[in-house]
Amino acid sequence: MSDNTPVRVRFAPSPTGKLHIGGARTAIYNWAFARATGGTFILRIDDTDPTRSTEENTQIILRAMRWLGLDWDEGPEVGGDYGPYWQTECLPLYREAAERLVAEGKAYYCFCSPEKLAADHDAAVARKDSFQGYQRTCRNIDPAEAQARVDAGEPYTIRIKVPLDRGDVIVHDAVHGDVTFNAKELDDFIIFRSDGTPTYNFATVVDDARMGITHIIRGDDHLSNTPRQIMVYEALGAPTPTFAHISMILGADGKKLSKRHGATSVEEYRDAGYLSDAFVNYLSLLGWSPDGESTIIPRERLAREFSLDHVSKNPAIMDPSKLDWVNAQYLQAMDDATFADQVLIPQLHAHDLEPEGECLHDAAWYDLLASVLKPRCTLAADVVDQSLFLYTADDELEYDEKSVAKWLAKDGAGAALDAAAEALAAIDEDAWTPAAIEAALDPIPERLGVGKGKVFQPIRVAVVGCAVSPGIGETLALAGKDHVLARIGRARALAK
Ligand code: GLU
Repeated sequence: MSDNTPVRVRFAPSPTGKLHIGGARTAIYNWAFARATGGTFILRIDDTDPTRSTEENTQIILRAMRWLGLDWDEGPEVGGDYGPYWQTECLPLYREAAERLVAEGKAYYCFCSPEKLAADHDAAVARKDSFQGYQRTCRNIDPAEAQARVDAGEPYTIRIKVPLDRGDVIVHDAVHGDVTFNAKELDDFIIFRSDGTPTYNFATVVDDARMGITHIIRGDDHLSNTPRQIMVYEALGAPTPTFAHISMILGADGKKLSKRHGATSVEEYRDAGYLSDAFVNYLSLLGWSPDGESTIIPRERLAREFSLDHVSKNPAIMDPSKLDWVNAQYLQAMDDATFADQVLIPQLHAHDLEPEGECLHDAAWYDLLASVLKPRCTLAADVVDQSLFLYTADDELEYDEKSVAKWLAKDGAGAALDAAAEALAAIDEDAWTPAAIEAALDPIPERLGVGKGKVFQPIRVAVVGCAVSPGIGETLALAGKDHVLARIGRARALAK
């Protein structure tokens, strides 16, 4: 295909399951390649397997694509000039293409029964024949006779006629380099089954050819299908696209990623609180890097700089702790208001701490909570546990036993709480800010002749239930004056 043909790439999931990490990365690479080259990104639903494809899975895949932010230029919902974009709607096209190949002598009807095929194979094995594939039994049946048998209702498949003098089939792969296959080993494979459905290797090429796909970027589990697909391009007289087979994603143990390694579907990651941008960033670097070192690649940079020559052919290892790290970087890069709007408030709603569609506090309160939680979060959902003390009734707050033993049940804790209550009560309700709270509490340790911890930790335990919280000023400001005083009063009973 000539170098200046505008790029057209496709992501062609089979809706036999959810969109998984591997598929998502294939989709990301296709999207990024289209964006970086000013090309067209096409989404096609490969739903020819009627027993395993479902409409529900298609919807899940479309939703996951939208969540990933991978907008497609042609395909379901957006249409385009190269439809249909569902393979089940293309069945007549496949039949037409297969029959055209038969008419041109590039494919033929095969009437061999499964029993005959099995017997031929066994015989080839027994002979220790170097070629054990289909013995080309029906290749030379006179076309008129074959047509008559078809018309008489005899069951048949359609096989492609691989030219006997084809020689090696070389896949010029943009990731793996030249990969050579021996055409003899391809045998005359089936392109149409006896039940009237096309095989994957045929349907995919008919579609890729009619859609003008210039580059096929997909998992390298399809590399072994590629020589057969090249045979189909050649038979159809269509230009062969550039192939780029990307490595598998493996778990840390070097095995193919599966449920054993944790979440595998895109929506599980979304639900666990990963940000779409961070997830796309992390997956895009599983096998590609613009410079061998960057770890944070914003979507815009990916869409500008992605290129196939920086894709690695080595298997990529999924490392959940790196994904967490990237996610935390994205969370921390948000300003407080964005974090509040996009992470904090949605999580409070999702976990029923606040009623859906309502906000119990003003914007400044959420911004303050955002500012203290942001540096403490790896996942969006981490805000929930850390906010719980703000959504618990004063008399229902549970005290962590160890914190009570360490900070409340100690001599001097009672005096510290008394002094704190007195100083805090004197702050005007309208002036209840982190700075005013800190200013009020600051002199107490010296006055009581104790270290800061002996004053601030008992207050923390009283208000939060445990000794870990953000700065004391922010913590008390968020909890509100009445609640702080009520909680200190309640904790006083536990303090010495
Ligand atoms: N529907 C195929 C799959 O999901 C597409 C493979 C290809 O990209 O050719 O594996």
